[in-house]
Amino acid sequence: MTSLSDLPIRDDLRGKTPYGAPQKVVPVALNVNENTHPVPADVAADIVARISAAIGSVNRYPDREFTELRESFARYLGHGLTAENIWAANGSNEVLQHILQAFGGPGRTLLGFSPTYSMYPLLASGTGTGWIAAGRDDEFELSAETAAEQIRREDPDIVILCSPNNPTGTPLSLATIEAAYDAARGIVIVDEAYAEFMPDGEQTALSLLPGRPRLLISRTMSKAFAFAGARVGYLAADPAVVDALRLVRLPYHLSALTQAAAVAALAHSAEMLAMVGEIRTQRDRLVTELARLGYQPHRSGSNFVLFGGVADPHATFEALLERGVLIRDVGIPNHLRVTAGTEEETTAFLDALAALGRPGAPVNSLS
Ligand code: PMP
Repeated sequence: MTSLSDLPIRDDLRGKTPYGAPQKVVPVALNVNENTHPVPADVAADIVARISAAIGSVNRYPDREFTELRESFARYLGHGLTAENIWAANGSNEVLQHILQAFGGPGRTLLGFSPTYSMYPLLASGTGTGWIAAGRDDEFELSAETAAEQIRREDPDIVILCSPNNPTGTPLSLATIEAAYDAARGIVIVDEAYAEFMPDGEQTALSLLPGRPRLLISRTMSKAFAFAGARVGYLAADPAVVDALRLVRLPYHLSALTQAAAVAALAHSAEMLAMVGEIRTQRDRLVTELARLGYQPHRSGSNFVLFGGVADPHATFEALLERGVLIRDVGIPNHLRVTAGTEEETTAFLDALAALGRPGAPVNSLS
């Protein structure tokens, strides 16, 4: 059998590993920051009705401009945005890929602040864009000075800020985003995949859009909206940026069925987002309880918590899996990350973790 290294693959892809969060069927899956609450039944019925109406004309290509969907996103986001400000794709990963295709590429660079979302370097390599891993302050925070100083020094073509940051959960201040924009000569992306989970009173970067044509805010329906399987991500930016993304998207990239499902879900945004308060409660409970168990949870503005003090992350991960709980080893020494689930799932995780024994000691394995 031929192996990857035998193929005439691009040199810059040799030796790279694909995105690979484990997909396992387990009773408690808290590993990829999904919303673990299903779509409410009455909303699901409405979504199915819209999809079945769309099936009637699926012999034709879909609206290439997904106008109704862009109008729905503009209404949902507010901030005076209109459909001209909106872009969408099959998940925000594809939105980010479009941005790199239009503004990155060979000879250009993308700068992010590590540890951050593992797809950023992969999207960079897939588009031939150079990846620059800048650093953070203590506790994974990112001050305006730290961000601006590194951007000035590295002078990247694109800066990506993850707010709140995955995998650390760290919220990002608007002051840091403003400073990063002022220091950057090129595009500044703020990835707000987890924005709906931010604490009350925290502002989204949408408020910074007026007068900042190089600022791009990406969002997703995969997290708070409980729509990960539908694959819908979107972006708010200056209309000229949206024109740039039209140059790189494949024709008809959003299927008629995806558009119908997302429009229907957005028509019920209040119900779709009804569990966000409960998820934040479970997130805060995780922080409190992990500390009580002797771990060091980091502050989180998202639907997951990164915790330190884990002597052997691999052993703890495996011992939890034996007990039917799947979480995430994100490769940060002595840390693991867990998604806030339903109250029952969160309890199952905390009970399983407590059963492993004290944080510093060897874990109690079932086998
Ligand atoms: N950005 C961040 C920070 C994420 O954590 C994720 C998913 N884990 C995404 C973007 C992409 O999500 P999706 O493609 O499902 O919209």
